[in-house]
Amino acid sequence: MERDYRAAVLAGAGQKHRIETVRSAPLGAKDVLVRVRAAGLCHTDLEVIDGSLRVPMPVVLGHEAAGIVEAVGGEVEHVVPGDHVVLSWNPRCGHCFYCDRDLPILCAQYLANGPKALQFDGRPRAFRADGEQLHALMFLGAFGEFCIVDGQQAVPIDREMPFDRACLLGCAVMTGVGAARNIAHIEPGACVLVIGCGAVGLAALQGARLAGAGTVFAVDLRDEKLSLAKSLGAVPLHGERDDVLAAVRGATDGRGADVVLESAGAPSAFRLTTEAVRPGGEVVWLGKLDVERDVGFRWGSLMQEKRIRRSSYGGAEPARDFPWLARAYLDAQLALDPLISRRITLDELDDGFAALRNGETIRSVVMFP
Ligand SMILES: [Zn+2]
Ligand SMILES: [Zn+2]
Repeated sequence: MERDYRAAVLAGAGQKHRIETVRSAPLGAKDVLVRVRAAGLCHTDLEVIDGSLRVPMPVVLGHEAAGIVEAVGGEVEHVVPGDHVVLSWNPRCGHCFYCDRDLPILCAQYLANGPKALQFDGRPRAFRADGEQLHALMFLGAFGEFCIVDGQQAVPIDREMPFDRACLLGCAVMTGVGAARNIAHIEPGACVLVIGCGAVGLAALQGARLAGAGTVFAVDLRDEKLSLAKSLGAVPLHGERDDVLAAVRGATDGRGADVVLESAGAPSAFRLTTEAVRPGGEVVWLGKLDVERDVGFRWGSLMQEKRIRRSSYGGAEPARDFPWLARAYLDAQLALDPLISRRITLDELDDGFAALRNGETIRSVVMFP
């Protein structure tokens, strides 16, 4: 059954969104139709708007979302209409070279179909009023009242979880907490340095604390983000005013941080990671640059058995991780409220992205009625 609904359509990089009435495709056997209730504005959406991440247009962005299952295809068994779900942007085939090696983020079908910006099977699930197919970023396209996802992308969570905070679990929080819990090996009492205090960084520093870290330093260039980091238990360091290396070495008998989690996405931040980590320590890069850009490192900073790992989604196993992240929030172990700077309507999307671009907000969340 097709359905008409409002969605924010982006027709080209550098343009404004247009709110249009679009039409969903009939539900496939493995599909889940989700009534979106909240969707966060993430830097990856912004990369598409600004043109550094190139995807086919017209496209519906939005890949950090939570909602209610409206309908399911005939082969979907793990959710039923009415379930509350957080949406994952990393569906996987489960049987390719990388899936067999526990790297679903490199799944062949995921990587092959991602650049097409359609659904996981490579087909569209939404159309403009004139019948033109709409692309959907990261197999989601959540900046609309509804979206159709592959069943595995819809992960049921506790109904007590408020939607605006639940949506953050789907990208920023999974990436940040997951980097600390699934990727890095943080020992009790470890000294952890988090670079960049956006939504991912603020989640990463909390993940480090959940893992039992001792001192967690947090670096940013904006004082308001540093005070948020401080309120979440980190020692704030200003990236220009403070001597970050001296602070980290001073806390570790001169060794450097045991683990460095990078979430700033700037060349200076990437360079700081390898300078600040101790010999034998671990670096996890979460931030991004335009893929054609070069980054320079001092060779000596890369030596001494340092382990450097890039992670896009914090080693996410959504069906395992989303429910416990929601539980951690409900048990007051994980703070999500401070990550939400603004709650906006779909019509305010462009203003929300302008604020994200300027660094004024941690997260704006589109709320759907
Ligand atoms: Zn994201
Ligand atoms: Zn696969």
